[in-house]
Amino acid sequence: MPAKRFNVSVRRHDPTSGESPWFQDYEVEVAEGVTVLETLLRIQAEQDGTLAFRYSCRGAVCGSCAMVVNGEVSLACRTQVHGLGNDRITVEPLPNLEVVRDLVVDMDFFLEKNLDIRPWFDPADPDPPHERLVDPSDWTEAEPYTNCILCASCHAVCPVTARDPSYLGPAALAKHHRFLADARDGAAEKRLALVDDDAGVWGCDVVWNCSKICPKGVRPTQGILASRERLKPKS
Ligand code: SF4
Repeated sequence: MPAKRFNVSVRRHDPTSGESPWFQDYEVEVAEGVTVLETLLRIQAEQDGTLAFRYSCRGAVCGSCAMVVNGEVSLACRTQVHGLGNDRITVEPLPNLEVVRDLVVDMDFFLEKNLDIRPWFDPADPDPPHERLVDPSDWTEAEPYTNCILCASCHAVCPVTARDPSYLGPAALAKHHRFLADARDGAAEKRLALVDDDAGVWGCDVVWNCSKICPKGVRPTQGILASRERLKPKS
């Protein structure tokens, strides 16, 4: 397919200026296979050096370029412009996080939530003479949760995160499950106590938005429900 002309409408905002956000339109020729991130880089290089956005790996590994493209939370580096099926593209920053500038959001609030769930391995046994090996059959539950790239896409689509800043959020609760499900970890009781309230696993609306949107196949809701099951009083 030949290159096609697209109108790319980007939400601009500099909160330090006191001005309200606005949409700025750019006309760009885009070849098939080119991603939204590559298109933004081209706009920045050829049309507007003031356009701000965050990226790093360009290969869906770092999670830096999550943004809203045509109303959908997406990684810009793996979203092809031609695949959007529309010659008008809107690009906006992730919701539920403060805008620093244009498409750049402040990730501190999101990242700090991850510190609240003891995100470190806490084995019960004393230091062994060699590394702790895990049987592959004991790793299947925890393994998918190790794939989180902290992109905050789940945070952006979570209705609880949107209304309650005290909620730990899907990414932190997914990380919580990664350690809870690790057969070598010995701190299950302490871990469960950390999430046994409405700011933790009982606050989730169970709408599965986070699990559907995750670009790495992490399923935070499933982890939350597993913790709830372990916290239920045993009859
Ligand atoms: Fe991103 Fe998925 Fe991790 Fe949420 S769980 S931060 S959507 S990789």
